[in-house]
Amino acid sequence: MSNGQQKRLVILGAAESGVGAALLGKQQGWDVFVTDGGQLKPEYKETLVNAGIVFEEGGHTIEQVMNADVVVKSPGISDKVSIVKQIREAGIEVCSEIEFAYRYKDDSKIIAITGSNGKSTTTKLTYHLLKEGGLDVAMVGNIGYSFARQIAEKPCEWYVIEVSSFQLDDIHEFRPDVAVLLNITPDHLDRYDYKFDNYIASKFNIARNQRENNYFITNQDDPVITNYLQEHPIHSQTIFFTMSEQQHLNEGGFIKNDEMHIKVDGEELNMSIHDLSLKGKHNQFNSMAAGISARIAGIRKEKIRESFATFEGLEHRLEFVATVRGVDFINDSKATNVNSVWFALESMKQPTVLILGGQDKGNDYNEIMELVQEKVKAIVCMGIDNTPIHAAFDSVVDNIIDTQSAKDAVKAAYALSEKGDAVLLSPACASFDLFKNYEDRGRQFKDAVHEL
Ligand code: ADP
Repeated sequence: MSNGQQKRLVILGAAESGVGAALLGKQQGWDVFVTDGGQLKPEYKETLVNAGIVFEEGGHTIEQVMNADVVVKSPGISDKVSIVKQIREAGIEVCSEIEFAYRYKDDSKIIAITGSNGKSTTTKLTYHLLKEGGLDVAMVGNIGYSFARQIAEKPCEWYVIEVSSFQLDDIHEFRPDVAVLLNITPDHLDRYDYKFDNYIASKFNIARNQRENNYFITNQDDPVITNYLQEHPIHSQTIFFTMSEQQHLNEGGFIKNDEMHIKVDGEELNMSIHDLSLKGKHNQFNSMAAGISARIAGIRKEKIRESFATFEGLEHRLEFVATVRGVDFINDSKATNVNSVWFALESMKQPTVLILGGQDKGNDYNEIMELVQEKVKAIVCMGIDNTPIHAAFDSVVDNIIDTQSAKDAVKAAYALSEKGDAVLLSPACASFDLFKNYEDRGRQFKDAVHEL
């Protein structure tokens, strides 16, 4: 244990969340030590040096770690790593960064958003509704600053937090006033012993500590969610959103005749889905979740309607790039799993040339087979190994072409399309075979379109 009065906080992993936890810990009087098995980004190093926080990189000094009172583990570090095993075996408390930050939130309010897809979009949209509604609010978590850093540097009255399952694995008391669970489809199973149930349970941690006066907003159309709820009741007030026409839904969100309805506390907000700035069915789910949250936060209906119409979406999520001689180019580089591609195709109105591929995480393309048959006129593969795509679609799509760069993929897709078509980059795969990350892939795609 630590010497003297000061308690010792050891932080494993020095990226955004680790550095945030270190800054907050230091500010709150902990004896902070940061250790990272890899190399730190220069800007994080500088932040730690400026704050006078002791750190090491390129490995862990075991005796500097095992004397911790609390260890904050970065979400990227798996439990299978030997240092984590040793810490747990020694009975040292391990928590995630949102858990640590939560202890210093004072009486601020939290809207926490999780799900397999749509987290960033819904987080940004909810933040936009609250901000435009006049609240003192910050957007944190996987998007922007970490929760801990925001509390250390600029505390607010409201936080909208994008939360991953990894952050939820190590919470103890974290209790959002409003928890949003958008959907659950298999993802990251390598971190959950390849057991979907473990991943589901991790997502539901978002509501685990909630009490009667808190809200749990979730998707009634997601069988994984509704099945789990039948077996594991939660303590907060559940509010559902759904696509089905539920005229008698007393509370929640639904779509009827292209009209979005949001009922909270006996009051109803209605809005045509055509007036939402975000297009596509998936974004109607996201909008209902954000709208219900904003109503709970007390934002006026008129303000919410206005803000829904003015919201600017995020880069790389069904982002319109340009129309080149009648062909629309759309960048959905963030679609790294098959489910996201389903929603992208669902939203397409034109015959589509689909750019697919990259690092395959064991995709099951059957999920999109029907939509591909209906809407996709050609597939351009963009990846080092395109065999899974050929195996899935060779008998379904006449034209499948292999490319290994964004430039070639855009050229090929353009050549295959005609006026009135769309070219959609929605790869269903990770980007690391050819690109630094999905942002790099999306930007190279956009650059190539602008060069046509
Ligand atoms: P996340 O932060 O969970 O990865 P994003 O908002 O960044 O989610 O969106 C990731 C991808 O998923 C994009 O391709 C987007 O078009 C798609 N998407 C967004 N919302 C949903 C949703 N509710 N259901 C399914 N797919 C979605």
